[in-house]
Amino acid sequence: MRSQRRRVRALLKELGLPPHPTLAELHAAYEARTRRTLRLIERDVAPGEPTGTYEQYLTQDRIYYPEHTSPAHQLLVICHELAHLLLGHIPRHHAIDPAVVRRVLGRSHYDDPTEHEAETIGTLLYQQLNLAPDVGPAARIAPSLVHREGRHV
Ligand SMILES: [Zn+2]
Repeated sequence: MRSQRRRVRALLKELGLPPHPTLAELHAAYEARTRRTLRLIERDVAPGEPTGTYEQYLTQDRIYYPEHTSPAHQLLVICHELAHLLLGHIPRHHAIDPAVVRRVLGRSHYDDPTEHEAETIGTLLYQQLNLAPDVGPAARIAPSLVHREGRHV
């Protein structure tokens, strides 16, 4: 775990970020570094459905995160998906909420090593993030979404 923590710090440093960036800073640095657009998209998730997903298009990456959940959980899902992208995982299937896996399968490990890696790195990334008090992750996510969509909410 200690070496994984170092790995997360190295990832942030590579992106030119301070040790505890905000999600907005991380978002901007990811786009600058990859020269790709990253869209964080909130969506309604039915019970039992995967909470998060990421998709890669020609010049754009998309992270889907659940609408009806706590801001902390939203951020955790985003960090998990972002970990996939930062680690260069090829999107293969929908991400599964680790809590659901534990509940359904009674274990915390995945057969898919990239899922396990994203779970570890994503969780550490989440812990590294600067969560400004009084400002929920959704509040920081929303403006960038509005901006990108070119519409008002
Ligand atoms: Zn995943």
